[in-house]
Amino acid sequence: SEVLIEVKNLKKYFKAGRKATVKAVDDISFNIKRGETLGLVGESGCGKTTCGKTVLGLYGATGGEVIFDGINVHTLKSKEKKEFRKRAQIIFQDPYSSLNPRMTVEDIIGEGIDIHDLYRGKDRKEKIFELLETVGLNKEHASRFPHEFSGGQRQRIGIARALAIEPEFIVCDEPISALDVSIQAQVVNLLVELQKEKKLTYLFIAHDLSMVKYISDRVGVMYLGHLVELAESEELYKNPLHPYTTALLSSIPIPDPEQERKKTRIPIEGEIPSPINPPPGCKFAPRCKMAREICKEKMPELVEIKKGHFVACHLL
Ligand code: SF4
Repeated sequence: SEVLIEVKNLKKYFKAGRKATVKAVDDISFNIKRGETLGLVGESGCGKTTCGKTVLGLYGATGGEVIFDGINVHTLKSKEKKEFRKRAQIIFQDPYSSLNPRMTVEDIIGEGIDIHDLYRGKDRKEKIFELLETVGLNKEHASRFPHEFSGGQRQRIGIARALAIEPEFIVCDEPISALDVSIQAQVVNLLVELQKEKKLTYLFIAHDLSMVKYISDRVGVMYLGHLVELAESEELYKNPLHPYTTALLSSIPIPDPEQERKKTRIPIEGEIPSPINPPPGCKFAPRCKMAREICKEKMPELVEIKKGHFVACHLL
């Protein structure tokens, strides 16, 4: 079918101390089509990374389910789990800590190849060289260690590692946040090229809305464990409806000076409330300029306002 991943009412709660519970992901539903990039954005602490890891089954779910090509990710037996692992991979945010400093690049990239027994001996070596070329490195790099590379190069190694087992789906967990601005576009371009070439499906997690716009077909906006808006990328940027999305967008610098002058900036005020004791009602209410009485009492549901554009806000 057209849909590769269905996330239904997904919840991931963590225990915090003896009594408190952190609702990192609280009743989130969306799907991702084959070959699509779904962007997931929000400030740090909104639960986007936890959501990505729970979708991949790296975290067990507290509730709800994730269906990947008809398979329930959270009820897999170990053999099926290994099979699923081969189809779904992750690229981590931090290219410094996500690579084992004691392993050579060849061993880092080769690890998945060995686990799934895809290539051996000479073929394995050739495959690794080919992967290095694919990500813009070369075979001279194979025998080196992670510390010998720049941040951008390390992220390329991380991408080669994810690609080594030829997955269909990759969770890109803030893959460029830790990189210099000058390098970010290069890594994003590489991910876009690879997607076209290998028909990959991405869940692209970021807090940088401008980058997400460039890479995503659709974008979901998360706030304190909830999805507050979901729409096609262009639609979301042209016609943001949730007050939080509007505020997030207003902090994007717009190069057109005419636009810049016209734009009224809505700074987001107030601290993000702790997900340990979230307020009842709309989670954004303590920071929302439009909040009314009902917002503090009742949690707004995600509703399709127009075709493909979903918003959770009492104003709409
Ligand atoms: Fe603001 Fe109320 Fe909408 Fe929440 S539901 S975003 S508080 S207007």
